[in-house]
Amino acid sequence: TKFDELGLSETALQAVARLGYETPTPVQEQAIPLALEGRDLIAAAKTGTGKTAAFSLPSLDRLGHAKGGQGPLMLVVTPTRELAQQIGEVCGAIAASTHHRILTVVGGLSYEPQISKLKHGVDVLIATPGRLVDLMEQGAARLADVEVLVLDEADRMLDMGFWPAMKKIIGATPKSRQTLLFSATIDRSILGSVGKLLHDPAMVEI
Ligand code: AMP
Repeated sequence: TKFDELGLSETALQAVARLGYETPTPVQEQAIPLALEGRDLIAAAKTGTGKTAAFSLPSLDRLGHAKGGQGPLMLVVTPTRELAQQIGEVCGAIAASTHHRILTVVGGLSYEPQISKLKHGVDVLIATPGRLVDLMEQGAARLADVEVLVLDEADRMLDMGFWPAMKKIIGATPKSRQTLLFSATIDRSILGSVGKLLHDPAMVEI
């Protein structure tokens, strides 16, 4: 399978070329068409499988050239600062063609610049759970416009004790959202908690 057989737009395919990817990885091959259809997904994929592009390409493509108001249209929640920064870079490379406003907010950095950028409005927000909940409680992050919610490394977030934060975050997004859940392992702790909040999810296992 080639990238141009997955249903991505010309703009997204240009981003793929810019990233230097020639052939989709197995998780990209399976997840991209389903995500473009608007399906919720539970995907079993570890770091190194190309999962970041598997959710970023179809999600940004579905936003098209839509611009939000203040709140993000796409939200990615991921357990660590390093992952958030990597995702921010991939989304940034893709958004070079779509001109979406991207912001990464993580713990350990001062609040003021993050709050001020949120005030100016963002289309794509990439966040670690603890910092995002802090920003929500301060009234700085509004999730009512989220159309696509990505939960990255969900098993690791649960292991790190982020379930209460995840519940708050998911509960602040509209029920009509699309949810893409990625996890190294899919077991009962995932399916019995966060998995229950998805709508008829398609399963992707590679
Ligand atoms: P990830 O699993 O998202 O952390 O990606 C792992 C690495 O694979 C990153 O360095 C990506 O740039 C790279 N990558 C992702 N998709 C592809 C692809 N289709 N072809 C070549 N490299 C890729």
